[in-house]
Amino acid sequence: MSNDAPVMLGMTLPDVAVWSERVTVALGQNPNAFSGPGTNTILLGTGRLRVLLDPGQGAEDYLPVLEQAMERCGCEGFQEIVLTHAHPDHIGGVRQVLDRFGDLKVSKRPWPGVDDPYDLELTPIDEGSIIATEGATLRALHTPGHAPDHLCFMLEEERALLSGDNVLGVGTTVIPTETGDLAKYMASLERLHSENPACIYPAHGPKIEEGKAKLDEYIAHRHQREQEIVAVLRNGDAGPMEIVKVVYANYPEALHPAACQSVTQHLLKLEREGRARHDGKDPILSVWSLC
Ligand SMILES: [Zn+2]
Repeated sequence: MSNDAPVMLGMTLPDVAVWSERVTVALGQNPNAFSGPGTNTILLGTGRLRVLLDPGQGAEDYLPVLEQAMERCGCEGFQEIVLTHAHPDHIGGVRQVLDRFGDLKVSKRPWPGVDDPYDLELTPIDEGSIIATEGATLRALHTPGHAPDHLCFMLEEERALLSGDNVLGVGTTVIPTETGDLAKYMASLERLHSENPACIYPAHGPKIEEGKAKLDEYIAHRHQREQEIVAVLRNGDAGPMEIVKVVYANYPEALHPAACQSVTQHLLKLEREGRARHDGKDPILSVWSLC
């Protein structure tokens, strides 16, 4: 049903990329099926000390790449670390960077329980928080859905959006079954759209040149997906994985488990809207029907 073909599987990006005079990327060295070429760890600012956004997963090969990126952009160290959210491919690299560069402030929106195992001293930030460094001003936007703690940031000097996992360079965002919320995610997309970003710097995949157009595409994509799922159910009751096999027929099977989570989220959203119901088992294992 969908022709927007595969995603970031197998995509490669350079280890270091200069996206603008104030934005340099060091690739996290953590490629996989979900994150594609790995996390974009982003050095922000123009001064000696920069802000490091999302230092990746803690991959063994990451620090040399980070140092290469620092050299490329003339950065000598870090003012602080800022996190978009507590998924391991964003927060998991913090300890490694602190061990190498000394105790830095680490700022994020708290996610009680999930932050704790990382044993970090976190400075809480939230909607409207400003993080300023030489040449870059970040304004935090609380954008839940992919994760409840998720912050995006407007880079005010460029009217650019640092989108974290809410918008990706290629493919679409996973909405995890347990902790994700598709209705909130779709509201977050509308929110980001209203910021009218000129371009988008995502946490995975290449820079997005047309920010607002990409958000239009993302919003339309979710609406289309919902219609496709409803169409499958019109042909008969089905479980999320059966729906995936129809709707994601053109995607590599390695991505089907992630797609299954997204489909389940759509079904839960339809359920909340009174448009679908399931047989009472775990939603992902249930048979679903239209109301
Ligand atoms: Zn994430």
